[in-house]
Amino acid sequence: MPTVTLQSAAAFEAAKKLLPGGVNSPVRAYKSVGRDPIVIAGGQGATVTDVDGNTYVDYVGSFGPLILGHAPARVIEAITRTAAKGTSFGMPTELETQLAQLVVDAVASVEVVRFVNSGTEATMSAIRLARGATGRSKVIKCTGCYHGHSDGLLVQAGSGATTLGVPSSPGVPSAITSETLLVPFNDLDAMRDSMSDDVACVIVEPIGGNMGTIPPRSGYLQGLRKLCDEHGAILIFDEVMTGFRVAYGCAQSLYEVTPDLTCMGKVVGGGLPCAAYGGREDLMRQMAPDGPVYQAGTLSGNPLAMAAGIATLEALRDSDAYGRLEQSSAALAEGLAAAAADAGVTVCVVRVGSMITCFFNASAPANYDEACASDTDAFTVFFGGMLDRGVVLPPSQFETWFVSTVHDASVIQQTLEAARGAFQDVANR
Ligand code: PLP
Repeated sequence: MPTVTLQSAAAFEAAKKLLPGGVNSPVRAYKSVGRDPIVIAGGQGATVTDVDGNTYVDYVGSFGPLILGHAPARVIEAITRTAAKGTSFGMPTELETQLAQLVVDAVASVEVVRFVNSGTEATMSAIRLARGATGRSKVIKCTGCYHGHSDGLLVQAGSGATTLGVPSSPGVPSAITSETLLVPFNDLDAMRDSMSDDVACVIVEPIGGNMGTIPPRSGYLQGLRKLCDEHGAILIFDEVMTGFRVAYGCAQSLYEVTPDLTCMGKVVGGGLPCAAYGGREDLMRQMAPDGPVYQAGTLSGNPLAMAAGIATLEALRDSDAYGRLEQSSAALAEGLAAAAADAGVTVCVVRVGSMITCFFNASAPANYDEACASDTDAFTVFFGGMLDRGVVLPPSQFETWFVSTVHDASVIQQTLEAARGAFQDVANR
C-alpha cells in the first residue's frame, strides 16, 4: 500500500512557488526517483516523521552529519545551553579552540585548522591555499568525486582524450574549469599521465561517496601520495563525508596515508552548518592573517555549530561508537545482499564502515563509469518500495546511505523486513 502523503504533497506545492524546484539543494527534489519528496516535520533517533505523520527509518541522516541520529540529547543540550548566551559574535570564543583541539587530537595530519560554514567552502579554500603555497594553478580531481559547487569543481570531462575539464553547469566560465584536470577514480596510470610540475594539488575523496560508496583500490591513496611528492603537488583529502564517519581518525587513519591538507564537514558540525580545512602547520600558516592567502567568514566558527561539533566528537571519542556502527552496518549489508538473492535480484552491496550503497549492478564499481552501469530503474522501484514500507533512503543510486549509532538491531531488522518486500517489487516489475 502506498503511504498517504497528502500533506507532504501540499507542502511541496507551496514550496515550489517560492523556491527553485521547491528545495534548497537539488537532490532533495527526488527528481532521479521520479516522485515528489516527503516533507519532514521532525526526527528522533533513527527515524524521521513527515508532515502527514508517517514515520520512517532514515538512512539519509542529513546526507552524513547525523552519526548520532536525530536530536541526540547531549548535542541538543549543548546547542541550547550555548544559544542562551548568544548566537554569534564576530569575535573569538573559546569554543572554536576547543573544537580545533578535538580535531587536531583526532586527525594525525592536521596540525592547524580553520572552520568554515560548508564543505564547498572548505574545499574551495584548501585549493586556494594549495595554489597560493605552490604558485601553480592546475588542480586534478577524479570524475564522480564531488567536492562542492565552487566554479573550478563543477567540471565534466571534455571531449576525446583530453582530461581538461569543461563546465558542468551554465554560469561556470570555461577559463576556470580549464584549470581543472579530470581523471578516473582508482586509476593511478591516468593520474600519472595527468601529473606535471604545473599541478598545484590533487583533491580526492579517499573513499568515493558521491557516486555511491566506492573504496580506494589497495595502494591507490599511497600512489597518489607518491605522485604528489614527486611533483611537489599538495595532496588534499576531501573528508567532508568520510571525516569522523568511517573512523575517529578519518579515512586517512584507515588507509594510513598522510595528506597535506584535509577538508572536513558534516559530522564535524554535529548537524549544524560547519566545515573545516586543516593540515600541515607550514601550509596552514599561509592563511590570513598569519599569511597572505585570504579567506574569511562572518559566521565561521559559529558558537552553536562549535558546541554541536564538540558534543558530537566527544560522544564519538568517549564510546564504542565505531564498533557499534561496524556491527549494525555489517548486519544491514549482509541482510540486504541475502534479501536480494532470495528475490533473485542482482545487486552488489558495498560498504565501508557505516557508509553503504546497494548497487543494482553485478559487481562493485571501481569508478564513476562502472557505477553508471547500474540499473537505476531498479533502484527507483526499490526506493519507492522502501518508502512505502517505512524506510527512507537517499533518493539516488549514486548516494551513500548513512547508518547512525542509534540504528540498533531492531531498526536493522525492520529495514531488512522492508527490503525483502522492496526487492520483490523489483523482481516483479
Ligand atoms: N565534499 C564532499 C565529499 C561532499 O560529500 C560534499 C557534500 O555532500 C561536499 C564536499 C560539499 O559540502 P557542502 O554540501 O556542505 O557544501
